Order: sequence, then structure tokens, then C-alpha cells
Amino acid sequence: MSEYAEDLTTLHARHGRYPQANTVEDFRRNLAAVHERIARACERVGRDPAEVRLLPVSKTFDEAHLRLAYAAGCRLLGENKVQEAQRKWEAMADLHDLQWSVIGHLQTNKAKQVARFASEFQALDSLRVAEVLDRRLRIEGRQMDVFVQVNTSGEASKYGLVPDDVAAFVQALPAFPALRVRGLMTLALFSADAARVRPCFVLLRELRDRLRASAPEGVSLQELSMGMSGDFEVAIEEGATVVRVGQAIFGARAMPDAYYWPTADAAPHQEATPSLATSH
Ligand SMILES: *Cc1c(COP(=O)(O)O)cnc(C)c1O
Repeated sequence: MSEYAEDLTTLHARHGRYPQANTVEDFRRNLAAVHERIARACERVGRDPAEVRLLPVSKTFDEAHLRLAYAAGCRLLGENKVQEAQRKWEAMADLHDLQWSVIGHLQTNKAKQVARFASEFQALDSLRVAEVLDRRLRIEGRQMDVFVQVNTSGEASKYGLVPDDVAAFVQALPAFPALRVRGLMTLALFSADAARVRPCFVLLRELRDRLRASAPEGVSLQELSMGMSGDFEVAIEEGATVVRVGQAIFGARAMPDAYYWPTADAAPHQEATPSLATSH
């Protein structure tokens, strides 16, 4: 085990206390530090860091800070909530090569907006949303990369498909040709215990491996989007190809995570009394 990520408790001790990035230099330094952590995690398991895409997550931060991130090189930003993402997209329309990835749960009535401005949607977990997205995208004459969100933690109120439902869901996706299916996405259990976080990532990878062979024509299950500031090294060790990192780049968020994840505690990455937990 010693070649694996340092104890998650250590990672979590750093996490949540990330200082605010307030200059382009701060962003450059934080991005470099994250890339370094990615490289070290890859090295431990013999992976090529080029296989891992860093998706900076800018939710809760204001336009001025997003512009600093852009100046430091970020060209794709992840946002959890549609309204917030849309507002930022409109405010920053002058940055023509800045793209948006929506990584949070989507209601059908918001799918129309997402089809207008997002280049990627990572939280697909309903055929109704797929249908609305596809219809709007075809009207707009464009396509969008999508990830199927899977609930790997068993937490009742977490979004995402139950693992057993993913195979049938994926079989239905060729009906929506404007959606370019790239892979699977998950949020791990909120725990400082690597032994409990890792199985979520393993489950997603094994599911992907199992489904890849039978994936319908045009549906790619290559990608695994998993891992955030507090646990992305573990996710990379288990095969992540996309890591979604906010606080390690932008700084600790003031907004409680509960605002974004109904089950999360106010403090980032504390125990969220998951239903699967048998002991503490
Ligand atoms: C906020 C968020 C992240 C990033 O979390 P950090 O702790 O800021 O790294 C990743 N994925 C999703 C779905 C999020 O909402």
C-alpha cells in the first residue's frame, strides 16, 4: 500500500485550507502544484500523465477570479449549477475560446439552456434530460460531450444511476445522436478514509471495463471522470482520465458543499452519514 497516495487524512488536512488565489501568479502556481500531484500519482501506478485531463471547477468564484484562471491558461471551466454557469458564460462571452463543462445534476427544464452554452455535460442520469438536450442541440446544430453519472457510494440522495441500471441506460443513448458519450462520472463517498473512498473509484472503473465491450456503436466508454481536490490522487491510481478540481486551484470555498450536494456536510469532505456506512 505504501506506493499508493499518502493517507487521505493528510490530503484532507490540506484540503479545505487552500488559500484563495487572487493573482494570475497564484493560479499558475496552484495549477502547477495540481499537475505535479497528478504526475506523482501517475508515476506510482505507471500511467502517463497525458492520459489525465484536469478540469478546473470554478463554482462559487466570481468573474474576476475566473478571468485570472483564464489568464493562467484555463480554457475549460466546470460549473455545478446551470444558472450560475449561464450567468458566467454570458459575462465572459468576450473570451471566445473559453468553454464550459456542466458537472452538476440537471433538471429537464434547464437542459435547454445547457444545450446553448456548454461544451460538455458530466452528470447525465436520465433519458428525459438526454432527450431534451439532444433535441435542443440538433436545433442549434451542434453536439455535446456527455458523461453518464453513476452513484457509486450508495448514498440515497446522491445523484446518478444505480450501477445496475447503467448498462440498459447506455444501450438507449444512440437514440440521441447529438450527445457524444465519452464515459462515466462519479462523486465518491465523502470520507477521509481512503479505504472507503477507493472502492467507489474501483466500482466505476470495473463498470466501465465491463460495459465497454457491449457498448453500442458510437457510444464510447473510454473516460472515467472521478476525483476532486481531496481525493484525486486515489482516483488517478484507480484509472481516472478526468479529475474535477476546484479548491486546490481557486482556494477554499466559503459556500458549504451542502449547497451543491444535498448529502454533503457543511464542511468540505466530512462524513456525510452515507447509507452504506456500517461503522465509523
Ligand atoms: C465542486 C465539485 C467538484 C470539485 O470539488 P473541489 O473540492 O472544489 O475540488 C468536483 N465535482 C463536482 C461535481 C463538484 O460539484
